[in-house]
Amino acid sequence: DKYEVDHSEFKLGKKLGEGNFGQVYEGLWNGTTKVAVKTLKQGTMEEESFLKEAKLMKKLRHPKLVQLYAVCTRSQPFYIVTELMCNGSLLNYIRKNDLNISTLMDIAAQIASGMAYLETNNYIHRDLAARNILVGKNNYVKVADFGLARAIKEEIYESTSKPFPIKWSAPEVALQQKFSIKSDVWSFGILLTEIIGRGRVPYPASNHPPKGLLHTTNASSNTNILSDFTNREVIDQIEHGYRMPQLPDCPDSLYAIMLNCWDADPKKRDSFETLLWKLEDAY
Ligand code: AMP
Repeated sequence: DKYEVDHSEFKLGKKLGEGNFGQVYEGLWNGTTKVAVKTLKQGTMEEESFLKEAKLMKKLRHPKLVQLYAVCTRSQPFYIVTELMCNGSLLNYIRKNDLNISTLMDIAAQIASGMAYLETNNYIHRDLAARNILVGKNNYVKVADFGLARAIKEEIYESTSKPFPIKWSAPEVALQQKFSIKSDVWSFGILLTEIIGRGRVPYPASNHPPKGLLHTTNASSNTNILSDFTNREVIDQIEHGYRMPQLPDCPDSLYAIMLNCWDADPKKRDSFETLLWKLEDAY
């Protein structure tokens, strides 16, 4: 078990971020290699399924995937040790930096390239979203946290403050938990809206709610305000054929790609291989 190593090999440095299931630190491995160390809160993972997943993840190697180096699971807290990405999550990065459209399209193509590799290896990400893409130097991005969602205990996912990511989920996942590479393609379409919207949360209040969707009443001021779609509303509206509208600076070619990602029939959605060449062609 080469990937199973001892906690003592790592010296933890500054905290890089906080996830749903624990903290992420910059770390030094054996006094030489800079790494990212994700610490997991006790009880968030089924130990056996986590180790099985980690074994698979370790085998996946691609320039557009964040490399898993090692895990520490002999005692609590569990560590997941990966390559360090100096600019953190794509979600924060695109919110803070004013990137031009060709850079954004390039980022989208890089993600499609990492996902095409997972597709070839019959591996499903299950939680593809801007928060799970990490940024290195020169707008170089990599897909992170692939497969981890599978190892997380379901009741933990439901009980965390952040709800199950319904807004990124294909309808067959939201309704029947049917994950596939094509449900990843749906999530990729949502991720494209995050990229073009510079980190905008999907299905915002500013998308005029379709007919029949209620305005909520702000009790204190007694004025009608538009609220974000709730998870239930997203599922209902998607089932009735609603899709997020095109953002003003979203090229037509990119919006066509999004709509294909959101085809109700998973089989009709493009493969990541196709998405990659379409994105490379689009700019
Ligand atoms: P997560 O638990 O994966 O959601 O991570 C929480 C935060 O930690 C992310 O939003 C990033 O800012 C940071 N982070 C996670 N993994 C890494 C990494 N490999 N390199 C740099 N920062 C990371």
